[in-house]
Amino acid sequence: MAADLVLLNGKVITVDPDFSIQEAIAVKDGLIAAVGTTREIQSNVGKETRVLDLRGKAVLPGINETHMHAPFFGASRPPLSLDLTYPTVQSIEDMVEALRKRVAETPPGEWIRGFGWDQSSLEECRNDPSRLPRKQDLDSVSPDHPIVFTDFSCHTLLVNSKALELTGITADTPDPESGEMERDPETREPTGILKEPKAQELVSRHVPLLTREEKKQAVLTALEHLNANGVTSFTDAAIGPGGEAFLYGVMSGEFVDIYRELLEEGKLTARVNVLLLYGDYGALTLEDIQRNIETFRVPEDVDSDWLRFPGVKIFADGIPLTYTSWMNEDYIGGDFGHGHSVIPGKTDQEQRDNLIAMIRFIHSKGYQIGLHATGDRAIDAAVDGFAEAMEENPGGDPRHYIIHGDFISREKAETLKRLNGGVAMQPFIGVMIADFDPLVVGEERAAYEWPARTVLNAGLNLTSNSDAPVTYPNWRLGIQAAVLREGLISGKVSGPEQCITVEEAIRTYTINGAWQDHMEAVKGSIEPGKFADLCIIGEDILTVDPHEIGAIPVLMTLSGGNIVHDASEGAFD
Ligand SMILES: [Zn+2]
Repeated sequence: MAADLVLLNGKVITVDPDFSIQEAIAVKDGLIAAVGTTREIQSNVGKETRVLDLRGKAVLPGINETHMHAPFFGASRPPLSLDLTYPTVQSIEDMVEALRKRVAETPPGEWIRGFGWDQSSLEECRNDPSRLPRKQDLDSVSPDHPIVFTDFSCHTLLVNSKALELTGITADTPDPESGEMERDPETREPTGILKEPKAQELVSRHVPLLTREEKKQAVLTALEHLNANGVTSFTDAAIGPGGEAFLYGVMSGEFVDIYRELLEEGKLTARVNVLLLYGDYGALTLEDIQRNIETFRVPEDVDSDWLRFPGVKIFADGIPLTYTSWMNEDYIGGDFGHGHSVIPGKTDQEQRDNLIAMIRFIHSKGYQIGLHATGDRAIDAAVDGFAEAMEENPGGDPRHYIIHGDFISREKAETLKRLNGGVAMQPFIGVMIADFDPLVVGEERAAYEWPARTVLNAGLNLTSNSDAPVTYPNWRLGIQAAVLREGLISGKVSGPEQCITVEEAIRTYTINGAWQDHMEAVKGSIEPGKFADLCIIGEDILTVDPHEIGAIPVLMTLSGGNIVHDASEGAFD
């Protein structure tokens, strides 16, 4: 049998059940035809076969980003947004300089969006922790353009005076019902800083929604970055009718049709799983879900190897750093109680009951549930809900999973294992916040946070991902973080007993993700008969110092046997 393509003389990390290492791969019709020694695979070389000599480079299965927001990520990068991420922008001065250039190319009056500023990496803010970028910083270069800059975590907006003027926000504007519109303590004038959804909405609902063309551009931008990082599968974790109004429509239901269109045009270069968002981001109700599940249609005639709509997204709470995780015990250092759920209800008990009612309903309709829960009280309620739902409607294999799972207890990890569920974690976010969380939840809970070892010991399916755009989809940094757990600022190891091995971390980005997608039989490892989704990297990830893993370059990415990213500069031909 002559292959379409063979890869020879590599270090093929198959991620099969034995984690065996091979040398060579034959690809035919988009599938892996054979795996073996270079000698064995040479017998698959015919006249038309393309031969790549890997010269010892390592090959992994294509990476699976099990939780991210692809359209949101794409819309947050150029050309649709100014790139304000570190290290492109390292100071407020850099930010203003980038804005000055964009202003010069943009017709007056047109909105300019930017994304990714992070006060902990802006020089002026590092020198003075009370300093944030504020409207005055932007006004001098943008008197005629409304500006809206989203921070990396999506929890804070920075806007200029023109944006406040156009949206009618003044010192007399009442405070939002939740979140914060920051004010100058003396004049009560808004400073241009808006925290959390209800405050952000004061401005963001006036920013024009992305056009359909811009939305398509956002997905194409995301695919380019993902493929360049070896990603061949991802879960788009919240698009649907509930996402129309959120941040210029980056979670719009229109993306369902855009994915279909890209697939038909041959431009969908990664396999997509969609979690549908059936209610308002941050204010989900059972009624919204019940209504939208009946009326919102997804295409049924698409190639499910590439595009699937298996699940529904629920948000149960927020994140620890803003004291919005729903915890069993109180936060420390402030008057924040134990946080709260975003599920409707006046008491913890009502919120718990309403969350469980949503889970039971969605489960009864046959969907997989991806449930955002960070606090232990939220996770406990979610796992109890999965158990009730599955007792009420047994059968099937939904593989419901917790997204984030920061404080999942050993007991609930074991329960979720019995329910054949999983957890989707963000190890790199873990090291970003590792130096801050002790101030919020105390040393002990902060050291336990993101308990990957506890989850694996329970036998529960653990996956890892970037939650892009919250972090850039560089899984090498995620593996480094999961293995070392070193806080980004201090370098201090947070909870060494929760570290996992490189081999385990690789599984969380490959075969375990395939399992979450119900596709472990066809992807997630390099074995004959599976999709030829492959990622060739520049260093041997199994032997390099773990501190170097984050910097390993991706040389080439194959998706269904096609080369969708090539930075090898011809080195393999
Ligand atoms: Zn997310």
